[in-house]
Amino acid sequence: MEVRDGKACGDPVTLTSMPEILTQSKSFLSSKVAHFTESVIREMTRQAMQYGAVNLAQGFPDFPAPREIKEAAQEAIAGDINQYAITWGAKNLRDAIARQMQEWQGITVDPERELTVCCGSTEAIVSTLLAVCNAGDEVIIFEPFYENYGPDSIISGARPRFVKLRPPEAPEGEWTFDSRELRSAFHNNAKAIVVNTPNNPTGKVFTRAELELIRDLCVEFNVLAITDEIYEHILYDGTKHVSIASLDGMRERTVTINGMSKTYAVTGWRVGWTVAPPEITNAIRKVHDFLTVGAPAPLQEAGATALSLPPSYYQQLAEGYRRRRDRLVPALIKAGFRCFRPRGAYYVMTDITGFGFPDDVAFTQYLVKEIGVAAVPGSSFYNDPRDGAQQVRFAFCKRDETLDEAARRLGGLRHGS
Ligand code: PLP
Repeated sequence: MEVRDGKACGDPVTLTSMPEILTQSKSFLSSKVAHFTESVIREMTRQAMQYGAVNLAQGFPDFPAPREIKEAAQEAIAGDINQYAITWGAKNLRDAIARQMQEWQGITVDPERELTVCCGSTEAIVSTLLAVCNAGDEVIIFEPFYENYGPDSIISGARPRFVKLRPPEAPEGEWTFDSRELRSAFHNNAKAIVVNTPNNPTGKVFTRAELELIRDLCVEFNVLAITDEIYEHILYDGTKHVSIASLDGMRERTVTINGMSKTYAVTGWRVGWTVAPPEITNAIRKVHDFLTVGAPAPLQEAGATALSLPPSYYQQLAEGYRRRRDRLVPALIKAGFRCFRPRGAYYVMTDITGFGFPDDVAFTQYLVKEIGVAAVPGSSFYNDPRDGAQQVRFAFCKRDETLDEAARRLGGLRHGS
């Protein structure tokens, strides 16, 4: 008979003979997971399919990716780039990213020691937090926030600490934050601040002055900036994207995160990356290796082609999204929404007070089931759901036909119900 831990395996184990700890009702679930719910955004996509609704919930384009990069992916597979790439990223792609960081932001990056290619920026963010956070650390997050940041902080053992972005009074105004409130979030336990610019869900593009204020606090309190720049190229109304790593004093305390999903309309490819000083990169690479081994090898090769597209590609990208914004926003206003005009990214946050619904969840349920349009309840972007109870987010990364059909359906909305 096999013996383990001094006990004969196969012996009948009665409840009374079990150690007390085993007889207590024991949950198989991590207490971390208990702190977060299923993604509301992805749930709304499922509901859009269930009810045949136009999906303006999840931020994926419903138009094709550029032909050149699809061909590059096919060639990479046909050319047998089908085995693991180097764990921290194919050399061609890392070189292309370094070239682009230099060209667009004037940031010099060593592709051998400062870059890690991950499975989307989603993995890049959580690998970074796992690499830098200890239990008890705090991660400062502006809210409303992209819903992954909260769970990502918790997975990494840290506590999220929220600082409010306040909506503008006038539709043409900007979302702002209170510098005193931000300052009070910086203290000894603060390990990192997550900055997402251009911002999902608000469409805010942080100004240089705002980023300099954040820089000053990061330096004063020795805090790391983790900056999600996935909408870097989607800008309107003459706004400029400033990478926080390009500011004096920030290069050595910033992890810049970006990816292919939004810039090249390939959200399903799962290719993103981090740029960070060598010591931090080392830690991120270890986490990334044990989590995923690597991002899809042939798609990384195609990524090198994508990042070599000419400047006209990026001009057309931004112009295409500007047209889509200017197609959807007036339709939303006409349907009774108060819209906060986005300056970047491809979402519009709206105020639904005029419809008289008790909250955003009731409203989005009505919208998806009765009107046939899926949107995201604003509460999913806030720590306290009450803060987003009269807000709803729409994505406009869609074809003209899709946006027009949504506008037609929204025309059937009732007001003040
Ligand atoms: N960061 C932000 C701010 C996003 O809005 C999204 C997707 O909507 C992601 C990251 C996810 O990007 P990826 O597809 O690279 O994982």
